[in-house]
Amino acid sequence: MFTVRKKSKTEPCHVHYVIIGGGIAGTTSAETIRAHDPEGSIAIISDEPYRLYSRIMLSKPNFFLGQIPFEKIWLKKEDWYADNRIAFYSGKRAIKLNTQKKSVTLDDATVLTYEKLLIATGSYARKWPIAGAEKKGITYLRSLDHAKEIMESIKTAKRAVAIGSGFISFEMCDMLKRAGLEVAMVMREPYYWYPVLDEVSGRMIEKKLEQSGITLMRTNEVQVVRGSNRVESVQLTDGTVLSCDLILAGIGVVYDTAWLKNAGLRTNRGVIANEYLEASAKDVWVAGDVAEFQDVILRERIQQVSWSNAYLQGKTAGLNMSCRRQVFKLVSSYTSHGFDMVIGFVGDIRVTPKREVVTRGSADVNSYGRIILEDDRIVGATLINRMRDAGPLTKLVEQNINMAARKRELADPNFQLASLIANTT
Ligand SMILES: Cc1cc2nc3c(=O)[nH]c(=O)nc-3n(C[C@H](O)[C@H](O)[C@H](O)COP(=O)(O)OP(=O)(O)OC[C@H]3O[C@@H](n4cnc5c(N)ncnc54)[C@H](O)[C@@H]3O)c2cc1C
Repeated sequence: MFTVRKKSKTEPCHVHYVIIGGGIAGTTSAETIRAHDPEGSIAIISDEPYRLYSRIMLSKPNFFLGQIPFEKIWLKKEDWYADNRIAFYSGKRAIKLNTQKKSVTLDDATVLTYEKLLIATGSYARKWPIAGAEKKGITYLRSLDHAKEIMESIKTAKRAVAIGSGFISFEMCDMLKRAGLEVAMVMREPYYWYPVLDEVSGRMIEKKLEQSGITLMRTNEVQVVRGSNRVESVQLTDGTVLSCDLILAGIGVVYDTAWLKNAGLRTNRGVIANEYLEASAKDVWVAGDVAEFQDVILRERIQQVSWSNAYLQGKTAGLNMSCRRQVFKLVSSYTSHGFDMVIGFVGDIRVTPKREVVTRGSADVNSYGRIILEDDRIVGATLINRMRDAGPLTKLVEQNINMAARKRELADPNFQLASLIANTT
């Protein structure tokens, strides 16, 4: 590890820029800082034992099914950290923050003092709160260690059960099926991806899942996990027993913010930040999945969970910490692939009582979108097999144009949305 200067053994290390979290947001911020400040010392603290890797690749077929070399997962070379004079505290967890003393304590008792601090801690997979959840064969998918565990398991596993309906389950069921396993999915919800998607979208996905041989157990939950050491079967609330040797619990994520709240930072679901990604304490910034920031396009506080958002927030935070003060502005987008379907999300897709939904296309033609408006302005969209609309919709959210007179066109699946974009040049 490249180390930062320390005067004596007992003295805390003083580092100009301390970054907690070595994912895409944290690493991009370090890279940006180094590009603008060649001198300042930088430290990244990561509780994972690995250098930056592509988290999004973990659930993609080429990596998961071994169609590309394992090495493709790494996004930085091993010596990138030393080459850029970045001290990399890997396998170490930050557990305590003192914003008065400007110090961070790690789980091995190392203390780092900082001039500027970035919190880029992302999220963890939500633990499945069920008796027997510690049995072998029960897995999650958030980290490379998780992926390795599942990739090892599928060498011998025959039957898998996925818990929860969301993008991880969607992509992983596709992977598991392609790997030759029998797959069942158990979901509490009445239809797939409820309430993020509407019923039409949810049923389109379900149709594809079922056509591909996935058994769907709706409005159902696992009541008992059976097996001595290793999982052998699950019993559902309706009495059904599904035998399985692998369970993938895809039941959402948690943001580990309690220790930051204890340090006096304002938190909600994530860590609260303004439009410059500044947290509520002096010289502290937030970036990536954990940032609950003031969005200048929507004029409200939101959390965006996507790779592009984390990358660009890391960049903006790095700039703001090292050289200039810049507002963060992005219409986030996200796509999920599986079962020959493409599911896309643009902007803010929450449907609230103040919002209106204009639908476009239909399940019959296997191409369906929902455009979400607030005060007649487009704020987001969900798209099933309609990715051609994603670019224009991103621009329309950004331009905040009044669409009161355009709803008929928005609803026409053949209408070119690009023609509504204002020419700003
Ligand atoms: C399987 C999978 C597939 C995905 N696919 C897509 C996709 O196709 N498209 C897309 O846009 N997004 C996708 N995502 C989401 C995307 O990966 C995240 O939005 C992105 O990784 C967020 O980056 P981040 O740097 O904010 O957080 P993270 O990537 O979560 O990194 C944060 C790091 O900080 C560490 N950490 C947390 N607390 C501490 C602490 N106290 N001390 C030290 N270290 C700590 C964490 O362990 C982690 O290593 C996917 C996610 C997963 C899990």
